Amino acid sequence: MSDTTPASAAPAAPAVRFEDFGLSPDILKALAEQGYVHPTPIQAQAIPVVLQGRDVMGAAQTGTGKTAGFSLPIIQRLLAYASTSVSPARHPVRALILTPTRELADQVADNVKAYSRFTPLRSTVVFGGIDMAPQTAALRAGVEIVIATPGRLLDHVQQKTVNLSQTQILVMDEADRMLDMGFLPDLQRIINLLPKQRQNLMFSATFSPEIKKLAASFQNNPVTIEVARSNATAETVTQTIYKVDESAKLDAVGYIIRERGLKQVIVFSNTKIGASRLARQLEKDGVNASAIHGDKSQSERMAALEAFKQGQIEVLVATDVAARGLDIAELPCVINYDLPYNAEDYVHRIGRTGRAGASGDAISLFCDKDERLLVDIEKLIKKKFERAELAGFTPRTRERHERAERGERSDRGERSERGGRPERSERSRDGGAPVSRREKVDPWFLKPYEPTGVEEESTKPEILPKSNRPKPKVAALLGGMPKR
Ligand code: AMP
Repeated sequence: MSDTTPASAAPAAPAVRFEDFGLSPDILKALAEQGYVHPTPIQAQAIPVVLQGRDVMGAAQTGTGKTAGFSLPIIQRLLAYASTSVSPARHPVRALILTPTRELADQVADNVKAYSRFTPLRSTVVFGGIDMAPQTAALRAGVEIVIATPGRLLDHVQQKTVNLSQTQILVMDEADRMLDMGFLPDLQRIINLLPKQRQNLMFSATFSPEIKKLAASFQNNPVTIEVARSNATAETVTQTIYKVDESAKLDAVGYIIRERGLKQVIVFSNTKIGASRLARQLEKDGVNASAIHGDKSQSERMAALEAFKQGQIEVLVATDVAARGLDIAELPCVINYDLPYNAEDYVHRIGRTGRAGASGDAISLFCDKDERLLVDIEKLIKKKFERAELAGFTPRTRERHERAERGERSDRGERSERGGRPERSERSRDGGAPVSRREKVDPWFLKPYEPTGVEEESTKPEILPKSNRPKPKVAALLGGMPKR
């Protein structure tokens, strides 16, 4: 059942249509509304297998259409139990979809809602960082499909607001990332709460030995579906690597955005502070930018994402954890401000562009000290990069330096970049234990993210309502991840 078709959400064979799978007219109507005509390769392979009730181990990277690949046949299978009764007892949880991040949970939930909207099936999403009460109300009312992050689901289990004893289908989406984020014990606890007899679907961008071990522990003779070489990057994405001095990287991002006239771009930073700093610098340069990372509240992250999708924000600066699973249609470009420490994150990052068969650009900045990271990426994706120069680019830092030498004052905001705190999942460069950084930190970097100065702000359109503006959160910046 394995195949090595290049990864993309480009339609499978044009002859295959959703009608061919025997899906209910209510599902087909929803697909027509979404504008889907032909299944993508993962959908063409997964849908019939899931409909048969088989376990699946799917190697599918972001943008391949895997969400519909598992949710359409799940909806079809659950239609046999669909009830229009208002009684919660008639709507037990029958399918559970676990995702690593809130954003991915939210996106999968949106998709499931859209695909099931003409059926009586109910679905809801639960994730941490927000009030439990509305989630509790939705769970108590009865839902057949629950999309959840592991921690918050266990909170609901503990409060007895969810009963998983009738769950027939379990999906682990982006299982590799769930392991990276340390969810293994939570996953095991959740599996123990489910009936032994059930269908298990596991999707992962990469199949590491740990993933295979997890799969072996709970799956039953799974069908392996592989639509891309593991760790392959989409062929529709043009990958460019620019060599830039460390001190010039901030300016280089602004230059690339201006030069290329980019209007919707995600820029990846390895650190939360780096992300905030870059967003702030871009705002100073007149670009509508916002940072999303683990220290931002859920509502701030959602507001920034929504503003980005609406085009009110041109540049979203994100850390890997915050950006994981973001589904932004037709994103033309991603920029790696930092090369990721983990080569697999490169694959995930550039998977944000070139989706659904569209073309995309992935631009990465690298400096001498990053050579090893670049080589790791080259090894993983089996591709050699040309290390190009960023033609026509003169870093402002050099101009400032020259001005300083001439005795002129330097711009405000020019500070050393030391002291960025790593995102929770950051590992040491040789893949070992998480890096602990205890160098001396300039206190300026421990200040919370603040929008740009008053005079500059008044000339720019307001992006987020004032109430949604990031609140000072010194403790969160100094301490660990926010509570789930
Ligand atoms: P996913 O990999 O599930 O995150 O999906 C990536 C993107 O492809 C999403 O924006 C989907 O809405 C879109 N998509 C999924 N399946 C299809 C399809 N059969 N035809 C067109 N677009 C699709």
